[in-house]
Amino acid sequence: MSDPAGPMVAVVDVDGVVADVRHRLRHVTERPKDWRAFFDGAADDPLLLEGEETVRKLAEVYDVVYLSGRPERLRHVTERWLRRHDLPAGPLLLRPRDDHRPARFFKVEALRHLAETRTVVVLVDDDPRVVEAARSAGFDVLPATWMGEHSALREAQERDGRT
Ligand SMILES: [Mg+2]
Repeated sequence: MSDPAGPMVAVVDVDGVVADVRHRLRHVTERPKDWRAFFDGAADDPLLLEGEETVRKLAEVYDVVYLSGRPERLRHVTERWLRRHDLPAGPLLLRPRDDHRPARFFKVEALRHLAETRTVVVLVDDDPRVVEAARSAGFDVLPATWMGEHSALREAQERDGRT
């Protein structure tokens, strides 16, 4: 699973780990779902302090890579947001264009790809299905539970393949 010679990396999800998306979930719980409004709100996500503390601690020891199911077109807003909150710097991996599979497929693929050249020490993610899939694939996982469980977000990640 890992290359002991490679630099060690902690992989950190964004939504529900460092970014509090609760203020914009209503856009995808109302019908019809308004994905544009949902994603447009990303710049205003409050910081989740537990997530911030976790990333800072990990960054003292490991390189940080951010792995989010957000679409590529949110790259600039997401990178700006990470910088604005002074979070540890690291590459940002996002969902490829037109990939609407459940987040767990994209994320486990991304972890495997990273593990070809780096030692992946942990994935921090709030989605139980992503956590389970990563664990089954042999990765160590730190489940982020501090934002609480939100079915609209799970549906967006699992069924709609959006975030
Ligand atoms: Mg998440």
